[in-house]
Amino acid sequence: MTVHVAGAGLAGLAAALTAARAGHQVVVHEAAGLAGGRCRSFFDPTLGRVIDNGTHVVLGANRAALGFLGAMGGGEAMVPAASRDLPFVDLASGATWSVDVAGRGISTLMKAAPGATALAGLAVAGITGLMAPGLTVAAAYGHLGALYERLIVPLSTAVINCPPSAAPASLLARVIAKLGRGGRGALRPFVAGTNLAEAFVGPALGAIEALGGEVRFHDPLAAIETAGQVARAAIFRSGRAPLGPGDALVLALPPWALAGLLPRGEKGPPSHRARAIVCTHFAVEGVPGMRQAARLTGCINGTAQWFAVTDGVLSVTVSAADRWMTHGADDIAARLWRDASTAFHLPGAPLPPYRVIKERRATASVPGGFGPRGEIAKLFYAGGWTSARYPDTIEAAVSSGIRAARCLGSAN
Ligand SMILES: Cc1cc2nc3c(=O)[nH]c(=O)nc-3n(C[C@H](O)[C@H](O)[C@H](O)COP(=O)(O)OP(=O)(O)OC[C@H]3O[C@@H](n4cnc5c(N)ncnc54)[C@H](O)[C@@H]3O)c2cc1C
Repeated sequence: MTVHVAGAGLAGLAAALTAARAGHQVVVHEAAGLAGGRCRSFFDPTLGRVIDNGTHVVLGANRAALGFLGAMGGGEAMVPAASRDLPFVDLASGATWSVDVAGRGISTLMKAAPGATALAGLAVAGITGLMAPGLTVAAAYGHLGALYERLIVPLSTAVINCPPSAAPASLLARVIAKLGRGGRGALRPFVAGTNLAEAFVGPALGAIEALGGEVRFHDPLAAIETAGQVARAAIFRSGRAPLGPGDALVLALPPWALAGLLPRGEKGPPSHRARAIVCTHFAVEGVPGMRQAARLTGCINGTAQWFAVTDGVLSVTVSAADRWMTHGADDIAARLWRDASTAFHLPGAPLPPYRVIKERRATASVPGGFGPRGEIAKLFYAGGWTSARYPDTIEAAVSSGIRAARCLGSAN
């Protein structure tokens, strides 16, 4: 039985590795020249080093993502960005505070500011469906004052990648409830110690190939042939792959890449819309004030939202960044460097070499509630967007890939 996996993002890699471990012959077909998809690393000549397309944070509660790493022996490659206190700064007032990320998820949130007990009630309302479907994070949580400004807004914007005025409160409530169930350290953030290729992508490719799997780059899926309600072949750039008895095709593609590929009779994703993230990397090796910077710092009331420091590079993330797509790289870099200078007390520090990465399609705009099986036999779906309950994240991508691979062989 051959399992063809279209897409070598984290969902496709998780599906391929799980299938290979279960004894299937696996071939991964990736359109690009490298694996990782929206979670990738590449060499940047301006900075003279390998950088990520954006800082990726995994939380302690993300058991699928961390378990996937651990099972590949790559667990050490994601490092805690804060062992206990995660620092925050208000760029407007200069106020600083920290969130204890070592405690139990929900108790940490409740201790973060007065009046926070309402949060637990809102989380319960969200997961039990009592929250009105159109209710936004701003409408549901805005009355929580400092807790809203200092924790809910940064958490919601980062995890849902959407401004609180538009983000569904029920989605955030499910995330908060999961953090609450996650026990001690559920909120602890982990980031790549060096880069995402070393943390996730390289170990996954190595493990797939060690199990006899094959990974083909520059090999996009171009079409799917069907006979009635059964997929008969997948057409890749490298050729036609017949789908015989027991064979399967896992579509580990984002919604916008599925458009035009799905055979008639397949329902398809509920939306093709995406939201943007901007990440700007600054070479700060020679900037003295940066040496004491924490590995990860959150901030409010600026353009920047998160500062991450790894190996002489300061990476500044702006989520829910659709409005920045039309701004030039120089303008974005100048604004973010001003924010960094405020946060790290570097008045007048000259703009260091930088690289701005605008990811227009960073995350799917709504959870899809799709897959792992569609209407057409032999087709399976994976991807961060396919979760019905959680936002498009690494956790959702890895979980979906594992879930799709575990369904292979049934009804096939
Ligand atoms: C800048 C940025 C920051 C982010 N930060 C975080 C974070 O902090 N924490 C977090 O959990 N998540 C974060 N995310 C989201 C996370 O990266 C995604 O949820 C996850 O990587 C999605 O993985 P995927 O495998 O579902 O999709 P993708 O990564 O999109 O993988 C799909 C793959 O399919 C390939 N492909 C497309 N068309 C075809 C075709 N026709 N044939 C074959 N292959 C094809 C693509 O090239 C790609 O490699 C961030 C995303 C970005 C862009």
